[in-house]
Amino acid sequence: MEYQRIKYGEPFQIRRRLGDLFRDIVRIKGVEYERGKGFIVRDYYALANLNKILIRMGLILTPMVECAVCRRSVDCEKCNFTDVCLKDVSICLCDECVSREDIVKKYLTVSKESLHRYLK
Ligand SMILES: [Zn+2]
Repeated sequence: MEYQRIKYGEPFQIRRRLGDLFRDIVRIKGVEYERGKGFIVRDYYALANLNKILIRMGLILTPMVECAVCRRSVDCEKCNFTDVCLKDVSICLCDECVSREDIVKKYLTVSKESLHRYLK
């Protein structure tokens, strides 16, 4: 199985020959195609539906995932939880942060801070 990273709302190329499936793909709600740019996936639901088609060709699209605590990008392919993960999250915890002793406290602090920023 091949994994390809994408960002919601940003165009990307699908590394497969799509043929007739192209029509099925652009019919998915939240998936668009822009000539010369590529496909755009709007959200989690659109991505899940798109992956149902692509998985048959051995491809899974995974959204760019960033660590909620340190904001570094998380490498899903090296993750220990890959078998149980739905692979449709955009926020997670990196290996380093997840092994911190104070991770729960740290995570709550960071969440509270971003909530305050949001409410301002
Ligand atoms: Zn981290």
